Amino acid sequence: MKITASVLVILGAAALSAQQAAPKQAAPSQPPAPAPTGYKDTPKQAYGKWLIHDDDRPRPAVVTPGPFVALPAPADAIVLLGPGQDLSQWQMTQGGGPVTWPIADGVLSSGRGMIRTKRDDFTDYQLHVEFATPTEVKGNSQGRGNSGVFLNGVFEIQVLDSYDNKSYADGQASAMYGQIPPMVNASRPPGQWQSYDIAFRGPRFNGTTLEKKAVVTVLHNGVVVHASDEFWGPTAHKLNPPYEPSNAKGFIQLQDHGNPVRFRNIWIRPLKDLD
Ligand code: MG
Repeated sequence: MKITASVLVILGAAALSAQQAAPKQAAPSQPPAPAPTGYKDTPKQAYGKWLIHDDDRPRPAVVTPGPFVALPAPADAIVLLGPGQDLSQWQMTQGGGPVTWPIADGVLSSGRGMIRTKRDDFTDYQLHVEFATPTEVKGNSQGRGNSGVFLNGVFEIQVLDSYDNKSYADGQASAMYGQIPPMVNASRPPGQWQSYDIAFRGPRFNGTTLEKKAVVTVLHNGVVVHASDEFWGPTAHKLNPPYEPSNAKGFIQLQDHGNPVRFRNIWIRPLKDLD
């Protein structure tokens, strides 16, 4: 057969197309780099002597909690996540659409994107949350069972698998993230249900002037880990940003940090204002 220029063009195009269609060579899989267990290159905290996420800050002592005790919602609570309940009180934080996290039999598993309560005017409240970090341990430090409960949408009580998992003190489970570590580490093993019982009073402002910081008391698995501790401002990574008047009220938010954390039995009781 006489090969003409046009046949060459067709053959060339076919070869190119075959090349494009060929499956890409899979990149050799690299284990993810281990997450740092602390930092020494961060700013000094807003209060005290430590850097934010300071690697030298002593880790809280381990206290083994007593057996798990279920704490059903009291009569005057708003049940945000309960048995047989749908997610109609929640929405995606970004975009406000319906929640895409999977739920089955009252157990919610964290998925892509943060979720928040539709109600966004909480100020002072008692909040009960049950959670379980993954049974199968993957990753280390902040890469292990990371999620979070955000009070007024901005003050994070950290969720992390802190059972035999070294990470920086102000990032432990039940830490006021980036600010105040829990007094003790009362974590249960991976996969087991754990509880946070939180009493929170939001910050008070006079116009744009902060008059009173947000105050929180937290029990982790029934063990007090914060007793009327003040947030220095909203939560951030490697930062301690100042308060803003919008922090005075807000929603409850659950964090997506790329780890599949389960949640169940979440309820809230708005508290009376201070006289
Ligand atoms: Mg978190």
